[in-house]
Amino acid sequence: MLDILAIAAHPDDVEQTCGGTLLRMAEQGYRTGIIDLTAGDMGTRGTPEIRVAESEAAARVLRVTHRENLHYPDARLENTMAGRMTLANRIRELRPRTVILPYWEGRHPDHYRASEIGYEACFLAGLRKIDQYTEPHRPYKIIYSSIYANVTPTFVVDITNYFDRRMESLLTYRSQYGPVEAGATLFPDEQEIRDRLAAMARFYGNLIGVKYGEPYVVKETMRVDDIVSLPVRSL
Ligand SMILES: [Zn+2]
Repeated sequence: MLDILAIAAHPDDVEQTCGGTLLRMAEQGYRTGIIDLTAGDMGTRGTPEIRVAESEAAARVLRVTHRENLHYPDARLENTMAGRMTLANRIRELRPRTVILPYWEGRHPDHYRASEIGYEACFLAGLRKIDQYTEPHRPYKIIYSSIYANVTPTFVVDITNYFDRRMESLLTYRSQYGPVEAGATLFPDEQEIRDRLAAMARFYGNLIGVKYGEPYVVKETMRVDDIVSLPVRSL
């Protein structure tokens, strides 16, 4: 059973979007996990087998206690009843309190579809009669990782101490980010990847007065109980 479950479209998404947060939460003693919906079978580089193996190595770097791949169709991910039900059943077994989904809009259709499938599966997971063999479970909180979306985040998690390890987790995907010929003009090289991710993390870190951050959006209003201890300087 998990405290936090990140659901993503592709095997290396979490490493670019919320991996620092997962690391930080694991260090705080929470049980974290990842479900990747596709294995990248349409990718220019690598094979599904290689990418799943790489994702398992990355999971060890991120210190997650559970990672699995549902092998839904990559690049043509669809929100089907079967797909929602399979994911809902996984949520019932893993019982996360908090779920991290991709932001609901974006350039890549798989990303916003994964967001929709994830949301609907969280809802279905709470219905008793959906499956008589498993106990219902509805996650308490859904947060949306918004690093790919140009929107103002609801909050930013300080990942300053975890940025290097998050980068290390991404670079375990040697089939994607190693020095490979296939798609050399399409794929940025390793230094470019480092620079890009650092620039984005610096930008969001700067919003909360730290070096590196990961941004999130929530649909509900955030509650505050103590306005004296609010972090982030106003002026
Ligand atoms: Zn992706």
